[in-house]
Amino acid sequence: LGSSLRNAVSKIMGKSVIDEAAVNEFVREVQRSLIEADVDVKLVLEISRRIKERALKESPPPGFSRRDLAVKILYEELTNLLGRKPAEIPMESKKTNVIMMVGIEGSGKTTTVAKLAFWLSKRFGKVGIISADVMRPASKLQIEQLVGPDIPVFSKESKDPVEIMREGIEFFKRERYNFVIIDTAGRHKDESSLMSELDAYREIGPDLVILTIDGTIGQAAYAQARAFAEKVPVGGVIVTKLDGAAKGGGALSAVAASGAPILFIGTGERVDDLERFDPERFVSRLLGGGDIIELAMRIEEAFKESRLMERMSKGKFDLEDFREYIQQLGKAGPMEKLLEMVPGIGGRVQLDVNSGEMDRWIAIINSMTPEERRDPSLIRGSRIERIARGSGVTAKEVRKLLKSYHQAKKLIESMSSESKARRLFRRMGIGG
Ligand code: GDP
Ligand code: MG
Repeated sequence: LGSSLRNAVSKIMGKSVIDEAAVNEFVREVQRSLIEADVDVKLVLEISRRIKERALKESPPPGFSRRDLAVKILYEELTNLLGRKPAEIPMESKKTNVIMMVGIEGSGKTTTVAKLAFWLSKRFGKVGIISADVMRPASKLQIEQLVGPDIPVFSKESKDPVEIMREGIEFFKRERYNFVIIDTAGRHKDESSLMSELDAYREIGPDLVILTIDGTIGQAAYAQARAFAEKVPVGGVIVTKLDGAAKGGGALSAVAASGAPILFIGTGERVDDLERFDPERFVSRLLGGGDIIELAMRIEEAFKESRLMERMSKGKFDLEDFREYIQQLGKAGPMEKLLEMVPGIGGRVQLDVNSGEMDRWIAIINSMTPEERRDPSLIRGSRIERIARGSGVTAKEVRKLLKSYHQAKKLIESMSSESKARRLFRRMGIGG
């Protein structure tokens, strides 16, 4: 998948004029590489339709070409599918977090339980394993051989997996383990019922259910992930056997389309063959490296900036703009630099805020409702108290932020009308 998508990108990057024909060609190549990689056909059509429509309709921000924009749109559509940041592994520090591994026979559950235990124990303290695969008693030995002597594996002679799980959890809780990972018996491919997972889930109530999906099954991964997710609340997926699998992109996008976040990928049979799934890096590799991501980010920033500039030059400035403004401030350095770009304002708005305060201010604005952000006059009395509580600051600090905001807004309004007046004068031949 990677090399042909990379080709499509480098081809369009080499073009000087991007017209409809060039966009069509780009979209056709993207389509071909996704289909070759086993990505679901409906999904491919949807993605390519959106790329085409957006690449022709949207205009690039100042300083960027339509060609840059097309690549950014491809990047965006792929990350929309897969997510951007690695999905969080939910955990609480003061308890024994229970993870249950589910998946069909042979998908790599037992191996992945060992890998995950190994991974977690290196980072987050004590990890224990419960081997509750009553269909395959040998899997306890399988895990022990993988993890070695440092990670304890609990099991007992019993036909009842729930009983094993209960006793195991009790044991590890008593010993104050941070994590317990439960290996379960997998259903066979042909069994449609997933009752045992559901039963065990209800009885045990784990904090997280992880589903293993064999990455070599291509786009069939979609149906499988869906089928499980409909029965038990799957909190994350690990796609296994992606070592050397040419069609990995298909399985990954299929799983992503099912709505469950991919936490890790398995890349071999050894205990350390587990990689955190980083969607952005994955897409970056697909598209030919970090340069493309950087380009996409720069365009995104430029879009935000030009939108803000446009609003400010019209004298519009609500608390959402203010938040954006503070954020850009953090990136751009001196605010004057930003303001110079607003017609008629040039470096005259002073904002008394330091970088520690900036983060707090953003937290305060985040604690407001969208209505409040768009109509700041609503924010009075008890609302101020609520916002302060929500963002963990004092009411005084919220008032200080509002005061700064109102000062900035007033100035921006007067500047923009001043510049309007100046333009009018200039047109009438008065002043310069
Ligand atoms: P389970 O039946 O779901 O518990 O699956 P197992 O953990 O027993 O794995 C089935 C087979 O797949 C074993 O031979 C594993 O060594 C192999 N396997 C599991 N994960 C990976 C992986 O990421 N890469 C490769 N190459 N093999 C794997
Ligand atoms: Mg097993």
